[in-house]
Amino acid sequence: MSIVELNNVEKHYQNVHALKQLDLSLNQGEILGLFGHNGAGKTTTIKLILGLIKPSAGQVQVFGEDPAGDNAYHLRRQLGFLQENVSFYQQLTGLEVVSYFAKLKGCDKKQCGELLEQVGLSHAAKRRVKTYSKGMRQRLGLAQALLGEPKLLLLDEPTVGLDPIATQDFYQSIAQLKAQGSTVILCSHMLAGVEKYIDRALILGQGKLLAEGSLKQLRQQTDLPVSLHIHGSNIILPKQLQDKATTQDDGIHLQVSPQQKMATLRQIMMLSEVDNIDLHMPSLDDIYMHYMTDFQQKEHR
Ligand code: ATP
Repeated sequence: MSIVELNNVEKHYQNVHALKQLDLSLNQGEILGLFGHNGAGKTTTIKLILGLIKPSAGQVQVFGEDPAGDNAYHLRRQLGFLQENVSFYQQLTGLEVVSYFAKLKGCDKKQCGELLEQVGLSHAAKRRVKTYSKGMRQRLGLAQALLGEPKLLLLDEPTVGLDPIATQDFYQSIAQLKAQGSTVILCSHMLAGVEKYIDRALILGQGKLLAEGSLKQLRQQTDLPVSLHIHGSNIILPKQLQDKATTQDDGIHLQVSPQQKMATLRQIMMLSEVDNIDLHMPSLDDIYMHYMTDFQQKEHR
């Protein structure tokens, strides 16, 4: 059974067509990255999965049930949610905030201290939230989202305001939850940061699905070139590579198709003037830009 299933989902807000024929099937233990420009429909998708809004057409199912249906309370206890720009009641301490949410969710209060430790906030557990930095508030939001070991975790810009170590710790927590069988959907505009942690990406453009797949599948679909930066002096490339190359101060820059990568590398390795080669495979950022540019061009036609 899919954890999340969206079939031909449409969402209209008055005169805004926010989602158009969206299909999505998410399996247990998957981490899905949901990407798109501002207003693409990411939050709307999350709200539909949380059951906060209903689709205008099509079906949304979470754990095989309607998240906005009669059984929704029972279903929501299995969800964890961190919204963008999280804010809490300022006069409460961190521990009181998490304890309050634990009570609402019917979770064991014992978890609160452990979760604050997991997100690196145990030293500030008894300080009021008004004294917290932005990153500390974000960590508190994460602790709240992780209450009750949710089977499905929805995270909107979860690492905004976190320093690099906290970001790494956060993704370790996510990997741990995945290993325990949790499923995660995360929205982020920081594609480079999430690239290595997600199993699959879904890219939206004005409510439409533009692309979906693992990084490997998206690289195959886009067929974007691989970049090679070749370091060394007085390098003379074989003739058939020269028209793909540009000379730069510290070496030569070359772009080849993924299919030509290995053959090209073998040729370059034969050249004694070559000191080093940097290889850049198409990143999630490159893939995202490719689909967005293509989408914008089609929209303007
Ligand atoms: P961002 O990256 O800026 O958070 P998003 O991808 O999450 O954007 P949504 O918040 O899902 O985008 O919005 C999708 C579209 O629906 C936008 O055009 C937005 O203006 C519109 N929209 C969202 N909520 C409402 C609402 N309650 N009433 C009217 N229009 C809305």
